[in-house]
Amino acid sequence: QAKQQGRNAYHWFNHTLTDSVSERMVLRNDLQEAIDNEGFELYYQPLINREGQLSGVEALLRWPHPEKGFIPPARFIPLAEATGQIMPISEWVLTRACRDMQTLADQGYGAVKAAVNLSPLQFHRANFLATLRATLDATGLPAEQLELELTEGILLDNTEAAIDTLHALRSMHIPVAIDDFGTGFSSLSYLKNLPISTVKIDRSFIKELPHSGDDAAIVQGIISMAHHLGLNVVAEGIETPPQHERLMEYQCDIFQGFGLAKPMPLDKLKHFLQGLEHTPITLETKVSSP
Ligand code: C2E
Ligand code: MG
Ligand code: MG
Ligand code: MG
Repeated sequence: QAKQQGRNAYHWFNHTLTDSVSERMVLRNDLQEAIDNEGFELYYQPLINREGQLSGVEALLRWPHPEKGFIPPARFIPLAEATGQIMPISEWVLTRACRDMQTLADQGYGAVKAAVNLSPLQFHRANFLATLRATLDATGLPAEQLELELTEGILLDNTEAAIDTLHALRSMHIPVAIDDFGTGFSSLSYLKNLPISTVKIDRSFIKELPHSGDDAAIVQGIISMAHHLGLNVVAEGIETPPQHERLMEYQCDIFQGFGLAKPMPLDKLKHFLQGLEHTPITLETKVSSP
């Protein structure tokens, strides 16, 4: 009741602003609750190679809010980044992903590589590498079974320190992918000097692929230059068979998208892996119709 009155009192001022500020405060408190009570889940989206076999999975954070249902990462990760809550969340994600991959290996599903998204705050923390080492040691996961995804923006923040960290990751045998490639300011030429293994072409270039000549040219350009530099290329956001087909023609290495497989909890991933053994994902089989 008091809250209601307070809100009405400021109605003349800026309704949208007061709403969003109080909304953020509520979200921040709920987020803290989820941090304290392990209220998150980690989903895994398969990445498929040219043979239709699993190349790895991307770990994607899910927050099942007790009243509001699943809140998308795009809504709470920027907030968590601003409040610093991203640090405990990131540690939980990293540990969960390593443990789950170790579980898959223990249960006979093979060595699955998990790609984990890094937040800028996490990457630039002084203890980042030590935490990473400790997590790998604690879970027993081989470093090669972890991959780290970072955006171009992370590298631009503090370039020299970032490059040092990338070299350290390389010496730890942890592969690094540049996520959402093409959306930042940087060009392919800067990749030349970076110790990374993969670029992931942003979904926005894939979206209109069979039709858009511009996007086709951009995607082909990225793939051929990345290959020239010895990098793997992942295309994200593949939803239709024609997109997959076109990317196969362009010699893309790895494919990710709802049309191939959606993000899923670990239990579902186990079933998915069992199915793959018998029927690799090809254009004819698993890609759903447009
Ligand atoms: P991202 O790393 O680029 O992840 C790919 C996003 O594309 C995921 O969204 C995934 O569900 C979605 N996606 C995959 N295939 C398709 C498709 O065919 N169509 C469409 N429309 N979307 C597709 P999600 O899970 O909502 O995550 C959004 C972003 O949140 C991620 O983008 C990543 O930047 C961030 N994020 C997710 N999990 C984590 C995490 O554990 N830590 C950090 N720091 N960031 C995370
Ligand atoms: Mg990613
Ligand atoms: Mg991405
Ligand atoms: Mg993206």
